[in-house]
Amino acid sequence: MSERRSPATIVANAGIAADPGRGSLTPPLWASDTYRWDDTETKPDYDYSRTVNPNRDMLAAALAELEGAAGGVVTNSGQAANLLALLILPTGSLVVAPHDCYGGTYRLIKGMEAQGTLRAIFVDQTDDAAYAAAIAEKPALVWIETPSNPLLRVVDIADRAAKAKAVGALVCADNTLLTPLRQRPLELGCDLVMHSTTKALNGHGDLFGGALLARDPTLAEKLQWWTNAAGLAASAMDSWQLLRGMRTLPLRVDRQETSAKRIAEWLSDHAGVREFYYPDIGFMVSFRIGGDTDAFLKALGLITLASSLGGFSTLICKPSTMTHRGMPPEAQAEAGIHGDLLRLSVGLEEPDDLIADLERGFAAA
Ligand SMILES: *Cc1c(COP(=O)(O)O)cnc(C)c1O
Repeated sequence: MSERRSPATIVANAGIAADPGRGSLTPPLWASDTYRWDDTETKPDYDYSRTVNPNRDMLAAALAELEGAAGGVVTNSGQAANLLALLILPTGSLVVAPHDCYGGTYRLIKGMEAQGTLRAIFVDQTDDAAYAAAIAEKPALVWIETPSNPLLRVVDIADRAAKAKAVGALVCADNTLLTPLRQRPLELGCDLVMHSTTKALNGHGDLFGGALLARDPTLAEKLQWWTNAAGLAASAMDSWQLLRGMRTLPLRVDRQETSAKRIAEWLSDHAGVREFYYPDIGFMVSFRIGGDTDAFLKALGLITLASSLGGFSTLICKPSTMTHRGMPPEAQAEAGIHGDLLRLSVGLEEPDDLIADLERGFAAA
């Protein structure tokens, strides 16, 4: 790649003054499903929107530049991007994934395993011996998610990717929690980087989307082929709206991270906190209250009980019954997801107001 542009410039400049029809500053919405051919032989650049769409292309180009990828695809959800990463594997492939991965990722891999489409090993990727044993089985794909969700455990991507590459595995990192502003997995040796753009990248809580980006152009082409074949691509409208949401990504992440740091410091020596998880980066904080979560959550007036993360509005959730309910109790116990664990996604409200709200929760619990 040539000279690297800063993320703020990438998102402010994406698709600007690129309208070939009327010269509009911001990108128009190309909602059309299909495009006119001049003659039967000359295929236009844009022919059918499941395959190619200008709004999707602008968004994919911006995401690829943010991640340092050769290219990739934008999908209609984060789960569609996960599915795509699994679809490109030969049938019966072995997948190694974190034992505390996102609940939807766990459910998808388990479902495909039950169907006989693939085999899976879930492992604590912070445990050197356990990870080495899993890699010795020669997986086709190693899935990395760091910081993990909901316990925000951090793994060394460069080390884990190098060990996976040594046995010929494809390595994919779910970078939803840190965004490309804080972590660039392709530079650390991964082949693929995945996002749920539903979260911080859009940041406004009003659409579903995903992305899967590849370091290698041939792999990027394969992703495009399968996305078209399986119909996984994001709509023009969602792509247009997501690019709009991303304009302010650097501002939002800076502010959310500063607030999360303050809240984490306050929680770290709060008498009501039994255990506390914060990776010193990003906008997520998880904690165990050692008390009645229902009373805690009912007492909140500002923070909403909802599963999602990364947006402007601060959300709290109880992973054991919400985001990770697809994970059986034994698997939850093994991953350390206890019934009194709460996960906070810090938004753009005044941090003092968020702290006051949490204090109401502790008082009630
Ligand atoms: C939300 C999420 C997903 C799934 O994305 P959807 O957009 O909800 O389909 C995958 N991984 C992580 C870490 C997530 O937070």
